Amino acid sequence: MGANFAFFLPIMMASFGFAFLFAWAWGARGAEWWSCGFFSVAAGFAVPAAYALLPSDRWGIPANIVFASGFLFFSQALLARWRTDWLLSLRIAVWGISILLSITGNLLDHGPLELMASDFGCFLLIAIPLIAGRRHLARWSDRTLFAAVSLVAMDNLFRGVTIQLTRGNGDFFASEYAFLMQALASLFGLFMALSALSALILDLLAQYRHDAHVDPLSGLLNRRGFEDAMASASPDGSVVVCDIDHFKTVNDRLGHAVGDQVIAMLAQMIREEAPPRSVAARFGGEEFVLFLPAMDAARAAAIGNIVRERFATEAAADLGIDHDLTASLGLSTVQISDRSIHDAIARADLALYDAKAQGRNRLCVRRALAAPTSLVARRA
Ligand code: GH3
Ligand code: MG
Ligand code: MG
Repeated sequence: MGANFAFFLPIMMASFGFAFLFAWAWGARGAEWWSCGFFSVAAGFAVPAAYALLPSDRWGIPANIVFASGFLFFSQALLARWRTDWLLSLRIAVWGISILLSITGNLLDHGPLELMASDFGCFLLIAIPLIAGRRHLARWSDRTLFAAVSLVAMDNLFRGVTIQLTRGNGDFFASEYAFLMQALASLFGLFMALSALSALILDLLAQYRHDAHVDPLSGLLNRRGFEDAMASASPDGSVVVCDIDHFKTVNDRLGHAVGDQVIAMLAQMIREEAPPRSVAARFGGEEFVLFLPAMDAARAAAIGNIVRERFATEAAADLGIDHDLTASLGLSTVQISDRSIHDAIARADLALYDAKAQGRNRLCVRRALAAPTSLVARRA
């Protein structure tokens, strides 16, 4: 292996150690294990530099220990993603046996035993997560990571089984073939590091995106999530807005925590009654918006009234509270002249005021068309 390469590898691996440390600080699941893994492997790759300073055959011992530990950490990192702590005792046993055999090989100056123990140990440690991971390949990030880890596993296995072959020639370690094998191992390691880092970052982005779009109390979309969902939805259909009646009294009499449970209960009923493609959101406080795509006012009113009746008859009993709970609803249907869904929401809001003014616990309608306007009609 070239001298430059010897310095480059530990620095590159340690850089990944730091990168995963930062990812861990941002809350990426399993990043701490990746970080430990890459720091361990960096220490392993630093051994040739240490050998240059202080030549000794015994440097193989710490090198084998940190490589095996690095692969144990990698297996832990992968399983944090695919099957937490799976076969931990077995993996620790593989780690321990591989270290014991490689130390024995080193002390007996038996090169093949030392290298085979190390390579097979690393192969087993990284191959076990692959068995768990093959059921989690729905996402591209997992597929890429799986491919990278497979290459690293095959590389270790190949080196393990070809040791007798490659050691036939005495100056193997100075050969171009040895350099190629080291270069391939580094390349696969780099591929694994980059795909793991990308997978973790994509997970974090998905988590942040979810947090930005979903209201934690109700589990429904928030206003931003609603806007985002509507941007890709056909705007034709009906809109129902819903507001809990005299909710201040609920908070005042029963406390804010029970008020929260009431909000979550109405959200659950909306979710249960809404047809599959509808978009339900909590717009704030105890106000909800339900967009029902391609649905006319009559069918939308029927769904709204089911939610209203269920809330009035079931919610208080389900929550075990002695307080009348009702909600008022306003409905409108998207019209050809509407510039956006917000025009229909504004009309539904006016209908909601009508419902409040007429005594609450009812659904009112404002300028709803009998049938939904089609996108074709809108463009005509
Ligand atoms: P109305 O029948 O006219 O709707 O009367 P109301 O008392 O429901 O009036 P309004 O809609 O203005 O009251 C909203 C109340 O909802 C005020 C606020 O304290 C309460 N609120 C807003 N957000 C939350 C929340 O997240 N949790 C709880 N528990 N209460 C909330
Ligand atoms: Mg209210
Ligand atoms: Mg309100």
